[in-house]
Amino acid sequence: MSTEFFLFADHRPERALRLRRLMMAIYSYALMWLGTWLGAELSILDPRTPHLLIFGTLCALNGLFFIAIRTGFSERFHDPSLTMVQMLAGIVVITLLLHHARELRGAMLSLYLMMMTFGVFSLNRRQQVLMAATAQVAFTGLLIYEWLRTPLQQILTLSLSQWSILLLILCWFVFMGGYIHNLQQQFRAQRVSLRQAHDRLARIAVRDELTGLFNRRHFLERLDEELMRHDRGGPPVHLALIDLDHFKRINDNYGHRAGDQVLQRFATVAGQCLRRSDVLARYGGEEFVILFPQADYADCEAAITRLRERFAAEPYRFDTGLRVTLSCGLAGHQRQESAATFIDRADKALYQAKAGGRNTLRRATPAPDHFG
Ligand code: GH3
Ligand code: MG
Ligand code: MG
Repeated sequence: MSTEFFLFADHRPERALRLRRLMMAIYSYALMWLGTWLGAELSILDPRTPHLLIFGTLCALNGLFFIAIRTGFSERFHDPSLTMVQMLAGIVVITLLLHHARELRGAMLSLYLMMMTFGVFSLNRRQQVLMAATAQVAFTGLLIYEWLRTPLQQILTLSLSQWSILLLILCWFVFMGGYIHNLQQQFRAQRVSLRQAHDRLARIAVRDELTGLFNRRHFLERLDEELMRHDRGGPPVHLALIDLDHFKRINDNYGHRAGDQVLQRFATVAGQCLRRSDVLARYGGEEFVILFPQADYADCEAAITRLRERFAAEPYRFDTGLRVTLSCGLAGHQRQESAATFIDRADKALYQAKAGGRNTLRRATPAPDHFG
């Protein structure tokens, strides 16, 4: 198991994303530490810069953040990424470094911007303003502290210009950051509505609108898959073709809406009588199919009988005395038999069930090629 896998593997993608973001911050700190160490060694920064203490504390702090995110502890907070807390730590560290930055201070002010970029995607404009204001206040505090220790006029002028430049840049950054944040929110909302539209279309493509069952197209696709599996030596495949008895009379006597209710009722009852692996679809009109992908004949027959009896016992509000029955032809697939021949055999068995008086099930005869 790689370290990468151990650190970030999580079935919750948001948590893994938060950890990756934190790691980005930690890499940035490592770079900053390298720069600080080099700067102190070459005396560009104050050689007395307590870089080990600063970055050691920061390392420990980020370790705590990591644990809080990795264990899910941070999820009890409003922002589980702990973005603002992380940024606050960043502001403190950067301000400490600026204290030792000597003539590099002007250039190093940009570190505040580096810290601000972490908030662009997850903080709204108000929170970004708050973070920018904190950075500005921290820098102001540093300048006041230094002024109190060495009140030199030249330093004051330089400090004031740095202070103003920082203010300007932070204001610009918050403006742009807020704009980017809003764009990202719009993009996210669009993605959600696109996904919903996609889900709706995907459902329409495979479902029948009235009953919510799979449609004929989906059934035929599944049938091809299951037959190929059976041809390759897979478990037995059975097909039940079901037709409601004297359905036309229901439409004629009670109206089309009543007929629709009967079709919906069939879908509900059949759903309750079958296993999850069985594929139930509306084949057309008042005809339905059930594909049993891994059951032997006796199990299929038992399931159909259960369904037939329960459906025939269903009462209807528009006529409590009405009982609707169904007829069924059940066929077992023979290896290498085409889907068309397979369906045709089930259809012939259904015809025999109708001819035999309805409300019954007939087993299909084997295909002629497979006799003997
Ligand atoms: P049998 O017992 O021989 O099957 O008789 P039947 O009356 O059920 O047979 P037939 O196939 O002649 O009748 C099917 C009827 O189903 C005809 C058609 O108007 C009706 N039908 C088809 N689709 C729908 C639908 O979506 N809603 C309603 N209410 N009726 C439908
Ligand atoms: Mg029919
Ligand atoms: Mg019918």
